[in-house]
Amino acid sequence: MGLSVDVAIVGAGTAGMPCAIEAVRAGAKVAVIEQAERIGGALHVSAAQMSGAGAKRQKSRGIADDWRTHLDDVLRISRGTCQADLVELATQLGGSTIDWLEEAGFEFDPVTPAILHFHEAYRTARTFWGVAGGRSVLKVVKPLFDSAMAQPNATLLLNSEVVALRQAKDGAVTGIVVRGKDGAEQTITAKHVVLATGGYGGNAERFARWTGGRKLHTAALPTATGAGIELGLAAGGVLRGGEHYLPTFAGIPAQSGGHQILWDQLPSLTPQVRAPWEVFVTSQGKRFVREDVDSVDARERALNALPDALFWAVFDARIWREAPPLLPGWKADELAAAWQSHENFVIAPTLEDLAKRIGCDAATLNATIAGYNDALRSGKPDPLGRESRPLPIAEAPFRAIRMHGMVLKTPSGLTVDRALRVVRADGSPIHGLYAIGEALGGATLSGNAFVGGMSVTPALGFGRWLGAKLAGRDLLEAA
Ligand SMILES: Cc1cc2nc3c(=O)[nH]c(=O)nc-3n(C[C@H](O)[C@H](O)[C@H](O)COP(=O)(O)OP(=O)(O)OC[C@H]3O[C@@H](n4cnc5c(N)ncnc54)[C@H](O)[C@@H]3O)c2cc1C
Repeated sequence: MGLSVDVAIVGAGTAGMPCAIEAVRAGAKVAVIEQAERIGGALHVSAAQMSGAGAKRQKSRGIADDWRTHLDDVLRISRGTCQADLVELATQLGGSTIDWLEEAGFEFDPVTPAILHFHEAYRTARTFWGVAGGRSVLKVVKPLFDSAMAQPNATLLLNSEVVALRQAKDGAVTGIVVRGKDGAEQTITAKHVVLATGGYGGNAERFARWTGGRKLHTAALPTATGAGIELGLAAGGVLRGGEHYLPTFAGIPAQSGGHQILWDQLPSLTPQVRAPWEVFVTSQGKRFVREDVDSVDARERALNALPDALFWAVFDARIWREAPPLLPGWKADELAAAWQSHENFVIAPTLEDLAKRIGCDAATLNATIAGYNDALRSGKPDPLGRESRPLPIAEAPFRAIRMHGMVLKTPSGLTVDRALRVVRADGSPIHGLYAIGEALGGATLSGNAFVGGMSVTPALGFGRWLGAKLAGRDLLEAA
């Protein structure tokens, strides 16, 4: 006879692990199925900047905050385009999620909580991160997960992909079909099936299909396939959120034509950290945004309006010599090699040659740079209102680096109700089927903006809350 459980959790990543930990702790019989050979999902690469209000660490630093203020801030940044009832739940769980990590020995970056400017800034210092990004989260969650999986009421299947959901005649989900590495399939019967399968930022075809035909430029792992979302749709679920896509500002593609962004080697583009010395031009050679505008949301929207969401950072020999590093994550030998042979690093003796190499019209690029230089030299305001303009772009050789808006999390996902039940188009729940984490779609909690920390914290928080709930315990009532 096949395995029969109370809760089958598909995906042992950011959301799936805490879901399993709490469900096992509360006594449910649990199976966790993970397609990869390792657990952890996106935590292996995520910066895991997490937002949570009312955490003990915030209180101990005298920062007054609560979930309602956090909720208001999310509604402000997302311009009311998120799913407010779920953001309410996420913000209610945020502080206790941070406390849970702290109790498990999480190594906070000492500067946290902080106001972060990589995404649109909150009004209060409520963003936390670890000394090693997502790996700091994994370091404390993994032992809890391992010990849960060692309990007699738990089963963990690695290298095992869930390829179908089993449904009763009335549509209720009753189990899953699991395919092992050897191709053999087994059915696991489950009272509740939780899709914790992540987003689709590793799959260019689904990204185009679910995100308005866009081309993928991504820092996500290949395991972010979107296959779990597809399972929910096949069971009667509804996709939403793709219209809310906003690229993150910005990264260097590993190679032209490829979709991977060099995530560990991001350029320093946050004006609050490093004021820009370079000029950003489109593929046509025109400026498209005030490079030092405070709001990253404004920069991301300007980038999103470009059909290819790409720009070139253009500068000259003197800026390269004198400016603080634009590429702090690059070693000297890596940079030297990039300028010699990386197709996204262009160096040329004249602006005309530079234009030719980056594929834009030389007269247009010349006019753009002349407009910038002339205003600077004559003490007139910058044409786009920029304030940081330390030097003109005048000394050969000229340089340009190609940068793209990038995917960290994908916007589309399964529509759920406040109980995290996957719902049909008419709003009725598909009994027995739940979704958490990025499978909900990043836009659910961020709307048409990128709200900092509103992926990892809710993935952990919803995971814990749902795992306990499916085993008969409400963490919010218990608090
Ligand atoms: C580079 C990068 C930086 C980021 N930085 C931040 C940040 O600072 N703050 C923030 O809040 N968010 C950030 N994010 C987003 C955030 O990390 C993710 O949204 C979140 O971790 C996703 O959690 P998840 O549990 O939904 O998915 P994952 O953690 O990806 O877990 C999903 C798991 O499901 C497995 N799986 C998928 N399909 C199947 C299947 N059919 N059968 C079995 N297993 C399956 C996968 O292998 C994977 O292990 C970042 C993302 C990236 C890529």
